[in-house]
Amino acid sequence: MIKINENFNKLQASYLFSDIAKRVAAHQQAHPEQDVIKLGIGDVTRALPDACIQAFHAAVDELASDGSFRGYGPEQGYDFLREAIAKGDFQSRGCNVEADEVFVSDGAKCDTGNFQEIFSSDITIAIPDPVYPVYVDTNVMAGRTGEAVDGRYSGLVYLEATKENDFIPEIPSEPVDLIYLCFPNNPTGATITKQQLKKWVDFAKETKALILYDAAYEAFVQDENIPRSIYEVEGAREVAVEFRSLSKTAGFTGTRCAYTVVPKECMAYTEAGEAVSVHSLWNRRHTTKFNSVSYPVQRAAEAAYSPEGRAQIQELVSYYLNNAAYIRKHITALGFDCIGGDNSPYIWIDGKMDSWEFFDLLLNKAGVVCTPGAGFGKCGEGYIRISAFNSFENVKEAMDRISNSI
Ligand SMILES: *Cc1c(COP(=O)(O)O)cnc(C)c1O
Repeated sequence: MIKINENFNKLQASYLFSDIAKRVAAHQQAHPEQDVIKLGIGDVTRALPDACIQAFHAAVDELASDGSFRGYGPEQGYDFLREAIAKGDFQSRGCNVEADEVFVSDGAKCDTGNFQEIFSSDITIAIPDPVYPVYVDTNVMAGRTGEAVDGRYSGLVYLEATKENDFIPEIPSEPVDLIYLCFPNNPTGATITKQQLKKWVDFAKETKALILYDAAYEAFVQDENIPRSIYEVEGAREVAVEFRSLSKTAGFTGTRCAYTVVPKECMAYTEAGEAVSVHSLWNRRHTTKFNSVSYPVQRAAEAAYSPEGRAQIQELVSYYLNNAAYIRKHITALGFDCIGGDNSPYIWIDGKMDSWEFFDLLLNKAGVVCTPGAGFGKCGEGYIRISAFNSFENVKEAMDRISNSI
């Protein structure tokens, strides 16, 4: 008899986006004349940069003739892209990352979800609350938790991000082995300083823990005092893996290209206490289970590092940041407390009421869709997330409607 992985039964059904869709559909039926403006989902809306499109086309043409055709590429990604990434995203900013420490993939969702696989099933995991749900659910599937009680799994250490700590979790008081951090944060939009991040790096070093650092939104950091990479912090190469993606930065959410940096100094330990290279473990896992990203997509991603590509990406990022600043200004003027929106595309708003109640209020009174914070964890209750991923015209219209109706 074929038996299931019982851990899947522990997963809490995620009704968040289907609940949102249901409420939006009901509203549209009741008010067919009103255009609903969606500032809920974390997907970009603007076209790929022209430099990427040109490289994409040219690479497709290469595949059209036998002489320049390419089949399987290296599982870790082509050298041209790994080198462009190491140079463009790290070495140029003073971070010591080599091309062979970059693993190209089809998404930071997969990478942040898969990375836990190379570690023992009895390690202790520390996960932020509120959180990007992938980190939690993949550890539940792997059997590292008990049942969920009242929205929280036994066996996980929750790193609470609240108004009291300015949405930067404190170092846990109990020992943990694997720590997930995400800055600029989804959903809160909070950023971390180098000094604050250094405390996490030091903690991981002292306790032989490992940090999984999700920097999917690093391109939105404009303030020179805020680190874009954990490797800007001294000692991080020994204790941190970093995830990056072209999804939110270069509009690759549908095109798919991301990468993970695994420094050769990172170690994990056997039962007997012997150090094993995390780089070699991940390389083994990646080459066994993955065949990398298509050649045209890797060429399109490489073009994001050309001078034209960089300028076009900065233009995209600035466009969304301008939306974010506009949202933040208007929401603050209405008397709400919020964070994010200055080095991040998300604004996290204290609704001063139940998050679904606030969601319904914005939908019914203004025809604007946001995301209720409770969907991201217990600490998200009372908050909503507004995303800057839309046209400026829509953002302006949404803020006008909210100002006129609340
Ligand atoms: C969008 C997002 C990602 C990136 O996902 P891709 O799979 O690369 O599209 C990773 N982490 C967070 C927190 C995100 O919001």
